[in-house]
Amino acid sequence: IIPIGGADMPVVVSMLNSYSGWAAAAMGFTLGNTAMIITGALVGSSGAILSYIMCRAMNRSFISVIAGGFGADAEAGAGGGAKEQRPWKPGSADDAAFLMSQAENVIIVPGYGMAVAQAQHALREMADQLKKEGVNVKYAIHPVAGRMPGHMNVLLAEANVPYDEVFELEDINGEFAQADVAFVIGANDVTNPAAKTDKTSPIYGMPILDVANAKTVLFVKRSMGGVGYAGVDNDVFYMDQTMMLLGDAKKMADDIVKALSGSGH
Ligand code: NDP
Repeated sequence: IIPIGGADMPVVVSMLNSYSGWAAAAMGFTLGNTAMIITGALVGSSGAILSYIMCRAMNRSFISVIAGGFGADAEAGAGGGAKEQRPWKPGSADDAAFLMSQAENVIIVPGYGMAVAQAQHALREMADQLKKEGVNVKYAIHPVAGRMPGHMNVLLAEANVPYDEVFELEDINGEFAQADVAFVIGANDVTNPAAKTDKTSPIYGMPILDVANAKTVLFVKRSMGGVGYAGVDNDVFYMDQTMMLLGDAKKMADDIVKALSGSGH
């Protein structure tokens, strides 16, 4: 699995999971243990089904994942050496609160950083405040956001986010063009347009959430230097309509909630 790149890794993780089940089943035959055969077969087949579903979601064929080689050009995709300094626009929690309270449609894009910061509860509070002000709030979930299948769905459910506000990539991607604000919190690779445009990128071919189509993009992450799982820079940071909200995801969401409730935007 060493040469396998960022975009294929989630599928590989689920495939290895499946293999462990088949190995256990094989061991069951060797030891003559029926329970082991049955449980192994269950783990193996459910892992295989999940791998198949993820392959489809990631726009990869099963064979190309197993054959590997994707991501071998990761260095080239990472921008080929020294990073150039590009201009970007910083923003604060107050700016974000103002922009979102004036918006009609806000789409929240959570990622791995939201999970690390455990920001889901603060995020739901933020959405509640916005909804009170008449803003239409939806969540867009990429099939490999976070570090395991269903990672974001589980965290949002834990924070009591209503299911009917949570949408899969193919169901919501067309709506970014009508969104006033795309609020990206702790996600990175799943929004990176290089997956569409840069053949040398380790995430090339992965479907992405088209946040760049929104009127304004608010991007929460801790620093400009930090990269996502695939280790590549993201052009969305440097776009005219993007405002970078640098800080821990939970603290930023808490501060936005305070700004929304405090100043009565
Ligand atoms: P990424 O890993 O691309 O990006 C995470 C972002 O979160 C980084 O930009 C990081 O920036 C930021 N971050 C980290 N900690 C915090 C924090 N405390 N507060 C605020 N921001 C934070 O995440 P995505 O969800 O977009 O993408 C998932 C990636 O993981 C994909 O490449 C996918 O292929 C891979 N993957 C997914 C699996 C799955 O099954 N879902 C399994 C294995 C891999 P900074 O450091 O600057 O804060």
